[in-house]
Amino acid sequence: MSEEIYLDHAATTQMWPEVKAVMEPYLTEKYGNASTAYDMGKEAKKALDDARGTIADVMDADPEEIFFTSGGSESDNWAIKSIAGANKRRGSRIITTKIEHHAVLNSCKYLEELGYEVCYLDVDENGIVDLEQLKEAVSGQTALLTVMYGNNEIGTLEPIAEIGMLARQKGIPFHTDAVQVVGQLPVPAHRLPIDLLSASGHKFHGPKGIGFLYVRDEVRIPAFIHGGGQEAGKRAGTENVASIVGMAEALKLSAYRMRRNCAYLNRLRNYFVQRVMRECSGVRYNGHPHLRLPGNASFSFAGVDATALLVLLEEDRIRASAGSACSTGEARISHVIEAIGVPEEYAAGTVRFTLGAENTRQQIDWTVRSLKKNLALLRGEMIGQESPAAGYRMPDGAGTDSRRLSTDPRNGRLRIL
Ligand SMILES: *Cc1c(COP(=O)(O)O)cnc(C)c1O
Repeated sequence: MSEEIYLDHAATTQMWPEVKAVMEPYLTEKYGNASTAYDMGKEAKKALDDARGTIADVMDADPEEIFFTSGGSESDNWAIKSIAGANKRRGSRIITTKIEHHAVLNSCKYLEELGYEVCYLDVDENGIVDLEQLKEAVSGQTALLTVMYGNNEIGTLEPIAEIGMLARQKGIPFHTDAVQVVGQLPVPAHRLPIDLLSASGHKFHGPKGIGFLYVRDEVRIPAFIHGGGQEAGKRAGTENVASIVGMAEALKLSAYRMRRNCAYLNRLRNYFVQRVMRECSGVRYNGHPHLRLPGNASFSFAGVDATALLVLLEEDRIRASAGSACSTGEARISHVIEAIGVPEEYAAGTVRFTLGAENTRQQIDWTVRSLKKNLALLRGEMIGQESPAAGYRMPDGAGTDSRRLSTDPRNGRLRIL
């Protein structure tokens, strides 16, 4: 197969051509600043208002509840730091989980340095947050609860309705990082007990560097970037009109295509998972069996190093990720894989495949073939002599330090001896 096979949609997605088309005028002739009074400014202001309205419609929210940001990371930082700051008098306790994105985890770490006490909830082997532990942890002194909706590494969907109800009973503001879910599954803000929600344009076929934070009407959130009066005076700076218009178009198209794409991705993912589990040995499927993002398939392969496997997959033009993109290059086991208790001999061989609507069954067939071949290679099994599907056992001297592979000193790529 000569085409590129992109199986890393949780890292980012390709902008849809319709999105580029609606952005183009705002990158060229319609360059007005939305804060100016003449017609060019009014044109930009109208585009902003329309985009905010579109996003509010899709999210079942009011336009006044949508604040544009530079992406998921900024939305998470804003929600966590500002709500914690505003509630300091109420208490300095923050509750989150062990499997959050680094934008959430490192915001919480920062707050710990400022004297906040952060409780990191456990998850079970499927990645579902421990609700009993949450019930014990919530107290009147809690300033914020933040639990992600869909996990970017293992795809597990958290029971945010239940979690939000718990927070509401105690009067605790509830934030959710929904970056992986918005555009994939319906997230009707007003019909969920959510106070704040983060989303990012490039995860649903929009442009990079743009996102939004939903803030429920009753929630008072302090300004994050001080300056001019943009975004109701809470997030100053001349608006990125082209990207905002593009993100709104991408979200609208995602909503139109959601039912069909979701069904297709579930089918394709299930086909992929069934084949891998049947035809590869020494493999674990990570995440919840069915409460998960439609395109996510995360596997841990015993006795192989994920980085080496990814290099070999890329030679077959397949792009996937080890754990999360943020930890690529680090030899460390991802905090998510650790939290769900993947056994040591499997953990280092964790690869995340995230499918998109443009992927085909032929591409999945090719990927399974490549996986089988390269697993056998990395485990030091002789191709043709021994079937890799014949029940996994680790051959002597094989595994992570397979003698059959070495790094080519000329270009740093793995080569086969
Ligand atoms: C990608 C991602 C982010 C960060 O979003 P950016 O727009 O890239 O800053 C945050 N949380 C989750 C769950 C993500 O997948």
